[in-house]
Amino acid sequence: MTVRVRFAPSPTGYLHIGAARSALFNWLFARQTGGKFLLRVEDTDAQRSTDESLRSIIAGLEWLGISDYDEEVVFQSANAEKHRAAALRLVEADKAYRDFTPKAERADTNVKQEIADRARKGANEGADHRSNSFRDLSLEESNRRAGAGEPFAVRLKVAREGKSSFEDIVYGPQERDYSEIEDLVLLRSGDVSPLYNLSVVVDDIEMGITHVIRGQDHLTNTHKQILIYDALGAGVPRFAHLPLILAPNKAKLSKRKHGEVVSLTTYRDRGFVPAAFRNYLALLGWAPPDDQEIMSLEEMIRKFSLEGVHRSNAIFNFSELDARQWTDQKALWMNAEYIRTMPLAELLPMVRAELEAEGLWKAEYETDARPWLEKTIDLIRQRFMTLKDFSGQGRAYFSDEFEYDDAAVAKNLKKETRLKELLPGLAASIEAVEPFNAETSEGALRAFSESAGVKAGLLINASRTALTGQAVGPSMFEIFEIIGRERSARRLRAAAQLV
Ligand code: GLU
Repeated sequence: MTVRVRFAPSPTGYLHIGAARSALFNWLFARQTGGKFLLRVEDTDAQRSTDESLRSIIAGLEWLGISDYDEEVVFQSANAEKHRAAALRLVEADKAYRDFTPKAERADTNVKQEIADRARKGANEGADHRSNSFRDLSLEESNRRAGAGEPFAVRLKVAREGKSSFEDIVYGPQERDYSEIEDLVLLRSGDVSPLYNLSVVVDDIEMGITHVIRGQDHLTNTHKQILIYDALGAGVPRFAHLPLILAPNKAKLSKRKHGEVVSLTTYRDRGFVPAAFRNYLALLGWAPPDDQEIMSLEEMIRKFSLEGVHRSNAIFNFSELDARQWTDQKALWMNAEYIRTMPLAELLPMVRAELEAEGLWKAEYETDARPWLEKTIDLIRQRFMTLKDFSGQGRAYFSDEFEYDDAAVAKNLKKETRLKELLPGLAASIEAVEPFNAETSEGALRAFSESAGVKAGLLINASRTALTGQAVGPSMFEIFEIIGRERSARRLRAAAQLV
């Protein structure tokens, strides 16, 4: 059996990181098993579905590197006729029935079911539906009334006794008494449009889906969906539900409550390396048997297993009160690790895009200054958390217009008034060295500090702030070499004004 899995987003908003994680797990499973990874856009809610949302979901999947769908993208709305036909087949087969309850009474229960479906509670919202008087209407009578134009909904005839059960790959055996499941609505009355559970099942059958991998919030829907598979006489796929991703206070992560931090494209826009975020996402609810955290894509594909997915919900640790912790610390750490260790050739285009976006890219970086650029990036990347740092903290390497960090100025320039004279002096002595590089500038600085009778550390720290605006950074002598003789001297003199 060839594995066939799908990611089935509803284009009604941004791509939630939980949904992105579902997409990734589907993708990993397909790639590991040599199966097919499909995309189905669940755009049946015409009011809430938007092109913009669809574009951002597609862009998010592309960014993560998992947009190599193995077949044409399926749009669920295009299949509405098939969904309707399936429901009517079930009516013919006595597995479903038309419910002619007049509009006034029906309005209430339909709305209730719709809300419940949307909230994906799959809750038991009315065993009273089981006493629906239309359940036992003869097919003849039902056809006659429908033929006469009487509006109806279609409901699945759920057995009165017994229970539904399935083995979830992650959560194990699941059971639910039929008595807890109402005769669920398959087609809405009035426009006879298909409801969520019906559409999902008919499409999954049509697409030959073998494994349904999705968020744990769909666990309770699954019982209803299995009833539909059974009624349609179709084989039931395997199910693997994934733990939720929760806020530190265990609340469900939502954009309304938690803002941009839950939206995948935020990570792209805030300077994440796609492979780093993908690696981080993979570890939300799963860990490889050897617990190795940083994995190449190949390793991830090889080690991934649905059996290794955890049941406990993952906590996304971030603080809305602290800008440095705007997202999970582990995500930031992972990103920094990637920036620090990935092949320079892969990092370069990303840095270039960032510098271009900030107006810091120069044509010569492609030609004469290429070696300088590579050296600089390799040097400064060691401490950076995101790609944004190349244009932020790293701005002084690429432009003479940079800002001095206030704390750095206070600590390294303002504390020692003698720096007012020392910095121009240091400027003069490094200007004189020949050739100008890390070693010779170190020699010049040390000789100068000795003759001035101050500690070299004082001048090193002051120089770092003078040349880069920052209090921390790479080795100071490397910085001299990278910034160059003239720019270094100029910045040392300029910094004397800040003392
Ligand atoms: N469209 C559903 C959602 O976005 C996915 C349903 C499924 O994966 O079965 O939650």
